[in-house]
Amino acid sequence: MEIELTKRQLDILEIVKKEKTITGEKIAKIIGITRSALRTDLQVLTKLGYLDSKTKVGYVISQSLKSYNKDDIGKKIVSDVMSGAVIIDEKESLHSAIIKIFLEDVGSIFVTGEKGLSGVISRKDLVKAMMGGTDLNSVPVSMIMTRMPNIVYISEDTSVSDAVQKLIIHEIDALPVTKTDKDIISVIGRFTKTNATKLFAEIIY
Ligand code: ADP
Repeated sequence: MEIELTKRQLDILEIVKKEKTITGEKIAKIIGITRSALRTDLQVLTKLGYLDSKTKVGYVISQSLKSYNKDDIGKKIVSDVMSGAVIIDEKESLHSAIIKIFLEDVGSIFVTGEKGLSGVISRKDLVKAMMGGTDLNSVPVSMIMTRMPNIVYISEDTSVSDAVQKLIIHEIDALPVTKTDKDIISVIGRFTKTNATKLFAEIIY
């Protein structure tokens, strides 16, 4: 049977995860309530096997929760962890693409045309063009991007394990997450190495 945790109980778990070991007093202080107001939540979390209480040391995430997390991650799908889409129209200049990469703080941008997703342009693609002396203001993104049908993309319900495997096999940093409707491939998000690293952090916490 699964018991839904309250917002405060989930907050407590996040705090313990972050601090690794923490006393009840310190948790109470971070949340901004008294130690006695926290007592029931700590008892519930310990009883349910989320936390272990160690005398004199405080609370730690229980071993059983760690393995629970691992199983849980295997069941996750891309929509649980993906980041927002960063796209550029294929007619835009390379200069605009560089500006977007800086402003959005990403390593690659997905390119769209009339039929939706049409390509990907990465940092290295742009550096290569610059080294070749390409005029950044007059050359459109479509000239140098990696283009369809060579783009590897996934959908929202792809499992995270399939998505991670695609990143590794194709040696790329990001995958467009797409929805196809009447031949138009819309980009609705991105799955990146950062998303994958965060999942890994959840396991090794
Ligand atoms: P960088 O080139 O900055 O290291 P990537 O490793 O993501 O970034 O990209 C490597 C090459 O693969 C680039 O030429 C890029 O255009 C291309 N690429 C990136 N993402 C994809 C993708 N999802 N599908 C196909 N090709 C991609």
